[in-house]
Amino acid sequence: GSTIGILGGGQLGRMTALAAARLGYRCVVYAPEEHSIGGDVAAGHVQGAYDDTNALARFANQVDVITYEFENVPETTVAECQRHKPVRPGVKPIHVAQHRLREKEFFRTLGIDTASYQAIRDEADIAAATALPGILKTCTEGYDGKGQVRVADRAGLAAAWQKLGRRECILEALVDFACETSAIVARGLDGETRCFPIGLNDHRDGILRTTTVPSGLAPATLATIERYGAELARGLDLVGLVALEMFVTRDGRVLANEFAPRPHNSGHWTIDACATSQFEQLVRAICGLPLGPVDVLMPSRMENLIGNEADDWLRYLADPTARLHLYGKASARPGRKMGHVTFLKRS
Ligand code: ATP
Ligand code: MG
Ligand code: MG
Repeated sequence: GSTIGILGGGQLGRMTALAAARLGYRCVVYAPEEHSIGGDVAAGHVQGAYDDTNALARFANQVDVITYEFENVPETTVAECQRHKPVRPGVKPIHVAQHRLREKEFFRTLGIDTASYQAIRDEADIAAATALPGILKTCTEGYDGKGQVRVADRAGLAAAWQKLGRRECILEALVDFACETSAIVARGLDGETRCFPIGLNDHRDGILRTTTVPSGLAPATLATIERYGAELARGLDLVGLVALEMFVTRDGRVLANEFAPRPHNSGHWTIDACATSQFEQLVRAICGLPLGPVDVLMPSRMENLIGNEADDWLRYLADPTARLHLYGKASARPGRKMGHVTFLKRS
């Protein structure tokens, strides 16, 4: 098989299609929009709603294997695709990732440490809450820090729960972390796992700003981070990629935050500074090729271009250490990821 179907029309699918093309594969993007930035670089684009079974069948008929580029694609859509063609990473990673309580419980069953947390479904849960100060998050649909509120005490928790529409939520104890990191792990058809070198992630307002590689973390901490990533990939029984976001505390504990079963913003540095990019690794995994080497070619720092930060992109063109990536989005709304730059640090 040589055609890959991608559910979702965003930049992660776009960069997957670019990597696939380099290996001689065709991609067909499925998205609700008539035009998408993923479809712009793919060989084909099928427009359809995520619940349009006829359009999904037409899409599936054009491809040999199907992947998804965002974890909030409806589980029923993925299951429908699975009736026609293999879907990799699969349905289970979507099922677990789409619900924060389910996700945290899954971590615990795999022996992956997390901050303390509790379900908030009614006033009684609020009255009994102990994971304070904390962060209240809706169980479904949040991303880029949306759908979450910091709370200091039970009064604040009650107000925050109202603000979030009295929906099913998770209250997580606020972690006083030393740094944030993520393990991006590929798992092949044969079950082999391979973890990309670990970077340090810096967030602002709930959005990733920079990733720096190497991380400078202690070897014992790195070993835990990589072990958690591999345990998760095996536990989800996935073929493809998974990114596990974690906190590292000042005393060296590693606590899992959440995971995404797809390429991850914190892995964009791999395009320019790693022997195999995360996008190529995904293509290799889902197409049954051997996984690629993950050696760091050069220390680097990836910076996101968010909102109007991408406006003066011309200045990066003269910088020999800068590798510019623009996603081709039409309008720069605040908070929107428009592109990124990887700065290579020559020694
Ligand atoms: P993403 O865009 O990564 O999917 P999201 O909306 O799903 O974001 P989280 O990753 O859960 O949200 O949280 C966003 C950021 O908020 C984290 O990267 C971290 O900086 C901070 N954060 C989240 N949970 C906690 C916590 N329990 N303690 C401390 N900081 C937290
Ligand atoms: Mg998230
Ligand atoms: Mg996150």
